[in-house]
Amino acid sequence: MPKIYCNINNCHYWSQGNQCGASEIMVTSDAFASQAPDDLDASDHVQFPQMEANQCMETCCKTFVPAYSDQIGVDGVTKNS
Ligand code: SF4
Repeated sequence: MPKIYCNINNCHYWSQGNQCGASEIMVTSDAFASQAPDDLDASDHVQFPQMEANQCMETCCKTFVPAYSDQIGVDGVTKNS
């Protein structure tokens, strides 16, 4: 898996050095993510429809979950130790 750097430090998967510690992540469009359930995520990647974006601001990390949220784990993604 490629190294993923991210500076969203209130995400459950964020680690020191701005590194993403998720076992896998799903990037999708803002529009799709805004209407998709929390439990649809990287482990379901083949179920995501293919789509296009015109600029980076139209994409987002679907795997984000706030630290200490009760939604941690609903998507099957784990945090690397
Ligand atoms: S899951 Fe997404 S938002 Fe969270 S640290 Fe990784 S890349 Fe950043």
